[in-house]
Amino acid sequence: VSPRPDLIRREVLAGVAALTAGVWTTDSRAAGQGGRNPFTLGAASGSPTADGMVLWTRLAPDPLAADGLGGMTGPVPVRWEVAADEAMGQVVRSGAVQADGRFAHSVHVEVAGLKSDRPYWFRFSALGARTAIHRTRTLPAAGAAVGEVKLALATCAHWEVGYFSAYRHMAAENPDLIVFLGDYIYEYSYKGRKLPRRHDRAEDVVDLAGYRNRYALYKTDPDLQRLHATAPCVATWDDHEVENDYANRWSQDARVSEVAFLNRRAAAYQAFYENMPLRRRSIPMGPNMRLYDRFDYGGLAQITMPDGRQYRSQQPCGSATSRKGHVAPLSCADLADPTRTMLGLEQEKWVYDGFERSIARWNIIPQQVLFADFSESDRQGHVGRFTDGWGGYQAARTRMLQAIDQTRLKNPVMFTGDLHAFLTADLKADFSDPKSRTIASEFVAGSITSDGAPDSMIEDLPRNPHVHFMDNKAHGYISATLTPTRLETRYRAISDRFDPGATISTLKSYVVEDGRPGLMEA
Ligand code: FE
Ligand code: CA
Repeated sequence: VSPRPDLIRREVLAGVAALTAGVWTTDSRAAGQGGRNPFTLGAASGSPTADGMVLWTRLAPDPLAADGLGGMTGPVPVRWEVAADEAMGQVVRSGAVQADGRFAHSVHVEVAGLKSDRPYWFRFSALGARTAIHRTRTLPAAGAAVGEVKLALATCAHWEVGYFSAYRHMAAENPDLIVFLGDYIYEYSYKGRKLPRRHDRAEDVVDLAGYRNRYALYKTDPDLQRLHATAPCVATWDDHEVENDYANRWSQDARVSEVAFLNRRAAAYQAFYENMPLRRRSIPMGPNMRLYDRFDYGGLAQITMPDGRQYRSQQPCGSATSRKGHVAPLSCADLADPTRTMLGLEQEKWVYDGFERSIARWNIIPQQVLFADFSESDRQGHVGRFTDGWGGYQAARTRMLQAIDQTRLKNPVMFTGDLHAFLTADLKADFSDPKSRTIASEFVAGSITSDGAPDSMIEDLPRNPHVHFMDNKAHGYISATLTPTRLETRYRAISDRFDPGATISTLKSYVVEDGRPGLMEA
């Protein structure tokens, strides 16, 4: 979706956007506060329903200003328009909202009253400038028959270890819905290594200004902006939106107090809210923020997006100084402690209630960390389970599998982030018995850029017969097409993460047929 200068000029001349005095321009790059473009971070849409969605932007003429406020000061009115056509000729909804410093001059417009299952186009204007025209989409009506839906799923985009070519190729596929599986930003920077581009600062991000600027940096990326201009998104988070391997109120560093960590988490969650197209119900209350959500794609799919970070038990089998994910031997009884939870008991109940009520043909669970059992070896060759994934929360994993099985959930499929590898697995009714029934499939997306999973995992594959494929070298995303009869999943890999013009190809593709748990190679 590209801006249409001819139309922009016509509308500016007609004075439609006569909101504020100041510089008028036909080019959103040129104007803004002090003559600077306030829309350096682009725009986005998300949290779609059958009659609307959230439109997002954030004003930041100086995106990396040290105070985290993007070069903005006082309140500014921001005008938005939604049209039924891509030329923005038939505006069907419009309005103005105030952007102010409380949420770093971000705006979250909850649009309602639109028609179901169709594209819309939108843009913002403020301070004499305007965003490009962005495309979005409503969901189909509840229970409606849907012929096909195309998802694009992404995870793990570290700015410093590559360009976001994968996002550009996702955009080119014109998905109906973009799904972020976590690690949309990274809080840490690499040291002592030659890198194609650098973060805004070398130290770890720990405070509100720091997190705000980290999102601002990522949002300036043209490939990411292009992706957000093509379709609405839904997002869950993983650890790096806050800190590597945190769990609930605990830092990975066991010496950090819970109070200190919760202050950091509050800053990180606020910046996440400010930079994502989320509804008011997600406005954080201190360190707490409701993110988990469910989206019904008509009668075709129910999409359940859990939050696997905020409510989880501490990782098991840690040391006195570190709770960081590591391979713990099976002799560590905490791995299977039934009192431990990944989602928190309240969210578990919400997930299982949703399974119980689901009437959808496909039940899609995009989530953070590897769900399939994975027997792996540590550097000393001891065999165990990685403590930060579901393997460190085995009783919770069993409860989830039992809920899937007992509710007779139709066609359950997991899409997973975090691993930094493409991986395909059958999920077994009893994960400790590879010969037990297959009840679901798991597809893990490779990273957009982040360094690959350890090679030792590839050597561990023979011990994991339910894992059909793993590639820890490729970077890219998952493209998935759902119809009433089948799910086709494609692993899309870029040619080179260090090449800003990287090309794309399909590494592997799979088909899951309606009513037949397990997958087939396409
Ligand atoms: Fe990651
Ligand atoms: Ca992660």
